[in-house]
Formats: sequence, C-alpha cells, structure tokens
Amino acid sequence: MEEIIFRKNDEITLTIEDISDDGSGIGKSDGFIFFVKNTLPGDTIRAKVMKVTKSYGFARCMEVIKESGGRCKARCKVSEKCGGCSLQNYRYEEQLKFKFNKVKNDLIRIGGINAEEVEKILQPIVGMEDPYRYRNKAQYPVRMGKDGKPHAGFFAGHTHSVIETDDCLIEPEVNSKLLNAVISWMNKNHIKAYDEETGKGLVRHVLIRHGFTSHECQVNLVINGSKIPDEEGLVRLLKEVMPEDLKSVTVCPNTRRDNVILGDSYRVIFGEGYIIDTLVGISFKISPLSFYQVNPVQTERLYGLARDSACLTGEERVLDLYCGIGTISLMLAARAGHVTGVEIVDRAIKDAKENAKLNGIGNAKFITGAAEDIIQSMLPENTTEPAPDVVVVDPPRKGCAESCIDAILTLAPSRVVYVSCNPSTLARDLKKFREGGYELVKATPVDMFPHSAHVETVCLLERK
Ligand code: SAH
Repeated sequence: MEEIIFRKNDEITLTIEDISDDGSGIGKSDGFIFFVKNTLPGDTIRAKVMKVTKSYGFARCMEVIKESGGRCKARCKVSEKCGGCSLQNYRYEEQLKFKFNKVKNDLIRIGGINAEEVEKILQPIVGMEDPYRYRNKAQYPVRMGKDGKPHAGFFAGHTHSVIETDDCLIEPEVNSKLLNAVISWMNKNHIKAYDEETGKGLVRHVLIRHGFTSHECQVNLVINGSKIPDEEGLVRLLKEVMPEDLKSVTVCPNTRRDNVILGDSYRVIFGEGYIIDTLVGISFKISPLSFYQVNPVQTERLYGLARDSACLTGEERVLDLYCGIGTISLMLAARAGHVTGVEIVDRAIKDAKENAKLNGIGNAKFITGAAEDIIQSMLPENTTEPAPDVVVVDPPRKGCAESCIDAILTLAPSRVVYVSCNPSTLARDLKKFREGGYELVKATPVDMFPHSAHVETVCLLERK
C-alpha cells in the first residue's frame, strides 16, 4: 500500500469519532489519527494540519461541515479558548454517555472482559443534577494585560497566556468578586503581576477554596517574593466581599522560574491559616497547601460507593493504599476494626494524622511511603500481623505498580475496592486481579469533572 504522508498546512477532511483524555476530538484521515481541539464525535470537519509525528498528528478545525447531534452552545464565553472545559459544547447527557462508553470499551478492549459480562457488572454512570459551579477550589493566574493593568483569569489550553474571564461557570460565583478585590488592591498599590519571561512582578496566582458544608473561605496569594505591601488593605477589601465566611488569607512565596504554582511555605495575614470542612461525615482541616477533593458533591457519591463496596461489619482490617489526606481511610474507620493508610506525600500523611485526631478516630494508622514498597513489609514472610480483609486502592492516573498488585494477591483479602481516575490503567490492573483469582462484581463510573473528558470508576473485586 502506498504510504500517505501529511505535511504541515495540508487541508484534510475528517469525521470525529472519539475524544482524547485532554478533550480533543479524534478522527482519521486515510487511517492516520489526528487530534483536533473543539470538535466532537459526529462532527465532520475541514481542518489544517499543524504538526505530524510518526503515528499521529494535530490539526486545527477550520470549518465544521456537518455538526455532531450532541453539540450545544457552551454557556461560557471563553470555553473554546480556555484549557478547562473542553466539552462544554457537548450536551451533558452526551458527555455522560461518552464517559460510560469509555469505561465500557476499556474494560472490554484492555481488560479482556467479554461484552456480555461487562453488560452485567457495569452500572449506570453517576452524573450531576447540576453540572455547573461544582468546584470548591480554583487557582487563577494573574498577569499584566496589554492595557498595562493586572488581570486574573485562566490559562489558555497548553499555553501560558491568560484568558480573562469575569466568571468561570464551574467555580462559585463569588470568586469573581474576590478576584476583583485582589485586582483593586494591586491597582491601588501599583503592584505588578508576575511576568514569566522576565521573572519580575509580584503577584503570580490567587487560590480560592470554599468549604462545602462549612462555607468557610480561604484566599491564598502566591507571590514572587516574600512580602506584600498594604496587607491590611487587601484583607479589608476581601472581607468586604465575604464578611462572615472569609476565614483565612495567606501569602505563599514562590520565586521559582518554572510553572509550579505553589511555593512550599505560607504566611498567615488574616485568620487561622486554615478552613474546616466536612465531607463523608468527617471534618477536615484544610491548609493552603493541603490536597482536598475539588468536587464535594460527587466525592461524597464516589466514596459512598467505595464504602458500600467495602461492606464492613466493624471487625475488618482495612488497608487503604494511595490514601492522600486519608479521606477514605477515615470514612471507613468508623465501620472497621482497624485501618492503615499509605501515601507517598509526607505532607498529606501529616494532614491525615491531624484529621484523625480532629475527629477522635483512634483505629487508623498512616504510613508515608510508596504503596508498592510499604506493602512488602505486610507480606506474611515479613510480619506476624494478620493480613488485611479489605484492600482499597485509589492510585494516580498511571494505576497500580505491578509489584503492588502481586503483593495484594499474596495478601489475599476477601475484597478489593479499586477507585480509579483512568479507565485504561484500571482495565489493565483489573485483568491482573482477575487472573489472580478475583471476580469483578461491579463497576460504577462517576462523573467528578463535568465538561472535561475525565471519568472516575469504583470497582468491587471479590476473591473467588
Ligand atoms: N484517596 C485519596 C487521593 C487519591 S489520589 C483521597 O481520597 O483524597 C492518588 C494519591 O496517590 C495521591 O495522593 C498521590 O500523592 C499518591 N501516590 C502517587 N503515587 C504513589 C505511590 N507510588 N504510593 C503511594 N501513594 C502514591
């Protein structure tokens, strides 16, 4: 067969068939795969080739010749430019259908589970009733605009130019007022925003977090230096926006020249330096540098499914791998004999221990380390402690290390609950569990990030 070679600026016609993890449309021209932003499955488009590699290319959509039946008008004015909501122009039911099918196809194709069996175990996707204003945390870059004034907004997808927006529809409405307060304070004091090119300018990012049940609010200013002028003025303007709920204002020095957002320390200029929030019945103390789930409504559902799958009676020994700040561990502790959480980030483990204390939970222990390493010390040849009855894993996108799964298989818990943020690595890992003597009883996709291409899944595995 003659090989077709594409070059930059070639014009092609494509029908989009799928969506990539970052939300780009995927289509084929003469069998060659192209990624095209702002396109949807079912669109037929005319596009211009931007870049080609050996096995795939990127193209820019010039014209939608025939629209996907799932298309709708995005509510947000800047959704096409902003890197945040790549699927806002896709009807929400279509987004859910796409995510459900992604999990289904990966279970079949990568997990090697036959279609009939998948049909039996795969539950309907848990979507949101109102898929807007769901995030409790936002980080806004601040940069100087062409008008010589500071602006806050979001980064355009894959670039570092700031798209100004006065209101992001997946964030709380009040954030735009808080941002305006920061910008007013900057203007009043002639403070410049950070410039990535020169490394000059003071204000880099504004981070805002709201407690879901407590409504407490935290503002953290990331600065290129150690001090800010007129601290009282800043606090006063922010308090005017949220007189009751603003509980913490901090500055976080970060003079690095890379794109890491946070520095590694912070100074409190108002309040206690943290907020308290309740999730799955547990109180969490959240400092500006703590990790915390961003979609509280869906987190409660996701973890509720994990809790039901664990099916605890009050006696079990539970091992929670990749435990973060211990959200799942602490939720399960009330229904288990004992819980051990393992997490690689030491700061998260410190938060987990503190949160255990805050809630008077005495039957949970937390260990810093890589799951695949720590679990070795729990194998029968290395300890006299009894093996766990239930193992929960909630790994990052790359899934579990093979050695970690091997060790779980050796420990032979009666149940494994797998919480996943990536269906392909989930399917790969489920295959190993199934080959190792476990039955996949149930898999439930949950939409934690509406308008993005991401999907989470909770799976229950039982030892045969
Ligand atoms: N279950 C947690 C968050 C899970 S996110 C919660 O409910 O909040 C995945 C976590 O795995 C992150 O906290 C990350 O720091 C951690 N992690 C990544 N690689 C790891 C490894 N090899 N061993 C243990 N933890 C790891």
